[in-house]
Order: sequence, then C-alpha cells, then structure tokens
Amino acid sequence: MNMITNHLPTAELQRLDAAHHFHPFTDKAGLAAKGARVITRGEGVWLTDSEGHRIIDGMAGLWCVNIGYGRKELAQVAARQMEELAYYNTFFQTTHVPAIALAAEIAKLAPGDLNHVFFAGSGSEANDTNIRLVRRYWDVKGMPWRKTIIARWNGYHGSTMGGGSLGGMKPIHAHGGMIDGIAHIDQPYWWGEGGDMSEDDFGLARARQLEEKILQIGPDNVAAFIGEPVQGAGGVIIPPKTYWPEIQRICDKYGILLIADEVITGFGRTGNWFGSQTFGIKPHIMTIAKGLSSGYQPIGGSIVCDEVAEVVGGAGEFFHGYTYSGHPVAAAVALENLRIMQDEHIVEHVRDVAHPYLKERWDALADHPLVGEAKLVGLMGSIALTPDKAKRAKFPEAANVGYRCRERCFANDLIMRAVGDRMIIAPPLVITTGEIDILVDRAKKSLDECYQGLKADGLFVA
Ligand SMILES: *Cc1c(COP(=O)(O)O)cnc(C)c1O
Repeated sequence: MNMITNHLPTAELQRLDAAHHFHPFTDKAGLAAKGARVITRGEGVWLTDSEGHRIIDGMAGLWCVNIGYGRKELAQVAARQMEELAYYNTFFQTTHVPAIALAAEIAKLAPGDLNHVFFAGSGSEANDTNIRLVRRYWDVKGMPWRKTIIARWNGYHGSTMGGGSLGGMKPIHAHGGMIDGIAHIDQPYWWGEGGDMSEDDFGLARARQLEEKILQIGPDNVAAFIGEPVQGAGGVIIPPKTYWPEIQRICDKYGILLIADEVITGFGRTGNWFGSQTFGIKPHIMTIAKGLSSGYQPIGGSIVCDEVAEVVGGAGEFFHGYTYSGHPVAAAVALENLRIMQDEHIVEHVRDVAHPYLKERWDALADHPLVGEAKLVGLMGSIALTPDKAKRAKFPEAANVGYRCRERCFANDLIMRAVGDRMIIAPPLVITTGEIDILVDRAKKSLDECYQGLKADGLFVA
C-alpha cells in the first residue's frame, strides 16, 4: 500500500502550508493564524484528517467525488494509461483512444443532439471555450454583432476571467474586473428575494427579466444565455418550476443559444444523468466537469449540439484549445468512472433510494427553530437560516450565522458548506441510507449548537 502515513506532525504541515501554499478562495493571513485542516485519506463518503478524525463529507469534495473516495479501479486505469500513453495532444489532426472513447460515451449519455465534445481541463476552462464558441458561431453565421452573453447574478461559472465574468458574484468581479459583453439578470431565489409573490409568479417574473434584458440590449446583439439548472455555489438555489420553461420559451423566441452549465448538475446529481432532463431544458451546449471524473482527474468539457458543431466545425480551423484537452489519463479515468456509474446503477440509486430517504429527513429540518426552508433536488440540498421563519427574515451580517454554523459542523465531523446564511450539502452519490442518517443527525446537532450559541450571545434577532 502506498499510503502517505508517515507525514510530518500536523503543526509542522500547517506551518509549511502557511509559508508556501497560496490557497484558492482563502483569506491567506486568516488561515495562517488558524492552521488549515489537513485531509489525509478518503474512503467512500468518509475523510480522515491528520489528527485521525473521521469526517463525513457532505460536499463530495467540491461537488465532484460522486462515486466516493478510494475506488481502486480508477487508480488502476490511471496507472495503466500512464504506462501505455501518458500524454499526447489532440491538436493538429491527431487523436488517441481514451479521448475518442470518452467523447463517444458522453455523446451516448447526453440528451438530444448533444453529440460533440470539446475537452477542457476544468469547468472554468470549458466556460471560456463556450464564450469563444458561441461568438464564433454567430461570426460564421454572418451576424458578428451577436456578442453579448446573458447570465445571472449570483450564478457561478468558474474563476478564470471568462468564467468569473459569466458568473454573477460581485466579489469575484471586484478582484480583476470583467471581460466585455456579459450582462446579468436577477436569480430565481424565491425564499430570499420573492417578497409577497407566489413561487410560481416569482419564477415567471425572474425568467421574464431575460426578455427585458434581450430587448434592452437589442435581440440582434445577444449571442447566448447561460445558467446552472440549479445554482450550486450561489447556495443551492432550486428555481420555481415555472422558471426554466419560460427561459426556454424566451431563448427559442429570440433564437439565442442556450448554455446549461451542468458542472454540478451533470452525471446524476439531480437524479437524472443531467439537470437539464430534471428541469426540461433543451440546451445547445452543456458545460461539464466535476462529476465527469468524480474528481479523480481534472477534466471538463463542452457538449455541443449538431448545429453549433457543424457551423463552427465547417468554417475552417477554430483557433482554440488546451494542451490538456482530452488528456489521455484524465479521459481514461473519466471513462472508467462512467462505466462504474452505469454498472452500479448510481443514478438510479440517487433517484430511487438516496433522494427519497434524504428528502424525508431533510424536509424535517424545516421544523428547527433556526431553519426557514429546507430544499432538496436529487442529492443537492440547502437550508436557509433565519431568526423568523414567517417573515423569511435575515440575520444581521455581523451575526455571521453561516460561518458559526459551519464551525459547529466542523466540530461535529461533518462537512457542510455555508453560503451566506444558507447551509448546503451535495454528498457523494453512493451515500447509503445509514450514512444519510449520520449526516442528518450531525447536521441537526450542529444546528442545535449554533442556535444555542446565537441565543447565548444575544444574536438570535432579525
Ligand atoms: C465548479 C463550477 C465551475 C468551475 O469549474 P472548475 O473546475 O472549478 O473550473 C463552473 N460552473 C459551475 C456550475 C461550477 O459549479
């Protein structure tokens, strides 16, 4: 066994980490003062840290380890592929077996005429590809004025310049700016922003902002709309059921391309292979990453419909690509992941076993005094923390309620993420009913402790 068990003491690892490791999405100085948690091992839905804690991973890493940690088949496929052909590129009219096989498999699984895969190394890169792809499409169609892409505030599409600009997160825009030609509309977040409207009316109203924005920009200037079927990083915002049909209608009416960012919702997360199937969306392009390889290798891509692939592909060279587009080791590992997903009926497990079981337990959390709503689609869920359910009130920012709750989760060996005042989960798709009980019991204990703490500190006020 090749376990790295003889590592340095935790304090020394933390010192070296603080000295030399510049972490993503982290307050560097804050972390240095505190010391990072060092994860050393993973098995199924369980993580072990350098102090020997066994932690249940309610987030599947970053929404990606869908088949769970420690699957030896994937390690073996990677080793075999490295020995046979560790690297070759897919530029300039060459290809290799893993990229061919993976593209064909993805085309088989994807709905409709989404038959062509452009590979990238990550979700962010794939969305950068999408920006260039849709703009190139309209150039070739003789409408080079169609450049603007409409996205949503509080959407997340990655953290490169393109992906970060498509995303609607102002703190990200504030660090480095935005590229031109991106516009945003409001998110379909009923609990937080729906006011007195019914969920259905609110869903329609938010979707109709797309039409207003198209008319404001000029229909001839709009290239595409991009959205996550369910906003993930924004707080697991499950849209009202009226939302996506109206978005689809508007995209069809104005003939603009529809991009579904399925980086989280793809590959079983919502109880179907793709979130677009769960919500009845018919995209021209899907962004994929994360669950494609269950996070065992970095790989992403754009699944492109026949029309867009034929137009862009029929107009000479598309000057775009990454050294690691279709990387053979990543592709072989992703292919093996998809084989396991199918052979072990993991999407069916989500739909028929794990989701129904978790739904019953998750919904019951809405009775907790600190919880305003509890929402779940497939195996992605969220709860809104509130001092007053009836008013759907928010805590004052200074209460830092999400952070406080997350600290209690950490203390109880549960990984649950905080997004503002929402707590979110997206556990590995292979989670069993027994493990769901452990997850929800720990979540409830953490909520109880957070609630007691807020009351003790006089912070349980709107
Ligand atoms: C994570 C994520 C991305 C970015 O993927 P990276 O692999 O981190 O670049 C893009 N879109 C969505 C919806 C995501 O959740």
